[in-house]
This record gives sequence, structure tokens and C-alpha cells, in this order.
Amino acid sequence: MFNQYNPDEIRDRARAAFIGMAIGDALGATVEFMTTSEIASKYGTFKDIIGGGWLRLKPGQVTDDTQMALCIARAVVSRQTWALEAVADNFAAWLKSRPVDCGDTCRKGIRAYMLHGTLEMPLNEWDAGNGAAMRMLPVALYSLPDGELLRKYAVEQAHLTHNNPVSDAACICLGEMLHLAICGAEKSRLRRQADGLVARFPTFNFEPYRGLATGYVVDTMQTVFHWFFRGRSFEECLVGAVNQGADADTTGAICAMLAGAYYGMEGIPQRWLKKMDKGVITEIEIVTDKLLAASPLWRAF
Ligand code: MN
Ligand code: MN
Repeated sequence: MFNQYNPDEIRDRARAAFIGMAIGDALGATVEFMTTSEIASKYGTFKDIIGGGWLRLKPGQVTDDTQMALCIARAVVSRQTWALEAVADNFAAWLKSRPVDCGDTCRKGIRAYMLHGTLEMPLNEWDAGNGAAMRMLPVALYSLPDGELLRKYAVEQAHLTHNNPVSDAACICLGEMLHLAICGAEKSRLRRQADGLVARFPTFNFEPYRGLATGYVVDTMQTVFHWFFRGRSFEECLVGAVNQGADADTTGAICAMLAGAYYGMEGIPQRWLKKMDKGVITEIEIVTDKLLAASPLWRAF
């Protein structure tokens, strides 16, 4: 069954997903916590990587979304296996490095690991932020195309900080959509996957779109779905998502990882790629290839 896949196409889509997520993070961070009308009056349509924002970023600088995804990627690449403790160690080292930002639920989970070695936070109905979903991309790459492995790794990495059934469902659905998109599925097929999530958890229903883009994983995924399915290019999907404001770096990162996987490197505007932090892009290219090389799909080629 693996022969239907073209390794060059898959590598291109995987890179575009990871680079896309960093671009979405860097673009959206400028308008994080702004409202749609604040963005509209300041920028018209906001669509350039210029840095600034509440974090006072340099143009092309990424935030916790990309950094935590890289923590997972580095752990898997260096251990050459799924090693949850190595992921937690990297999160801890990252938190100690005084990152530019870190969500409250992530901080609480990482501190629990640092103090008590906790690898699974207790079930908490309030821990339904988007912090576990935003770092799903390396998990999708490393498990490609095995759905069972994907679900195991998705939930394990999520529970380091977020142990919540709604967050888990979002992480798994996002990972499955990434698998499909990287393997070349059409949007209609991706739409069926999103509809499946809505059938099991009606709270994710995104039609009609309510326009909320907060850090609550339900609002985040509604925004991602709305703009990913409505956009006709990588740029349209991402610009739509970040102009909703609120948790714009994270809705941008997630929408752009999906759109990158779907449209490939060809879809990523050069003007955005050129603005990105070179060190981050180089590391992303290296770890993407290594994650793919360690995936069940590559071993079958
Ligand atoms: Mn962030
Ligand atoms: Mn954010």
C-alpha cells in the first residue's frame, strides 16, 4: 500500500507543514490578543511578517508554539524512538531558558514534571486550552501514516500538560488531518475527518462560524477549520485565521501547518519565507527529514 506514496512529495508537504507552522506563529504573534476591529483599523487586512505585538518580537521570530513543537521533534530525533521523558526534559530546559512566552497550563505541567517527575497531569475539565494541539506536528510526522501510533503519541504528549478529553479529541483529529494532507488527500477527505470530530463532540461545530479565536481549543479549532476549508491558497487560509485576532499566533500556527501540508512548499509566499528566522527554518528542515526517516512510512519505502 505504501508504493502509492511519492517520497519527494511527502517530504515537500511535511516541510511545508513545519515551516508553515512557524510562519503562522511569527505572523499571528503580531496581532495576538487584538480584536478583529482593532486589527482592521490598524492594518486593514493584516498580512505581513513585521514582528512587534505584545511580545515585541523581531520580524520572523517564533514563540512557544514553534518552540514546544521543536522540543518534541528534538527529543524524538536524538533518542531515535518515542521518549516521553526526553520530551519533558526538553520542555523543562526550554522553560528554564526564559522563553518569550508560555501558556499557564503548559507552565503548570512542566513545573509538575520538574518538581515531581509527573509525566501525566491529572484529568482536568478546565485544561482545554490549545497548548497540546499546537505542538502536534512532529507527532504526526514521526507516526506517519500509522493512526494507532498517532493516537498513542498524541495523547501522551498532550497529557504532559493538558489532560482533557476535548483537547485530546482535537489533538487526534488534527494529527489525522495532517497524516491525510501530507499523504496527498483532497480537502473533501479532510472535511470528512473534521465532520467526524464534530459528530463525536458537537461543540466543535464551525458552521455557522462564531468568529471566536481564543486559546480555548474549541474556539481555536473552529477558527482553523473555518479558514482552512474556506481558503483557496496557503496565504488565504492563514491570513483569514490571523485576522480573527485573539490567540492569533496559535490559530495561525495550526491553520498554517494544515495548509502547508495541503498546498506544499509551492504555496508558501516567498515574502514570508524570507522574513523568517534562518536558524529556525534550518533546524525545521533538518528535524523534518529526520522525523520522516524514522517514521513507519519511510521504513516501508
Ligand atoms: Mn505563542
Ligand atoms: Mn498563542
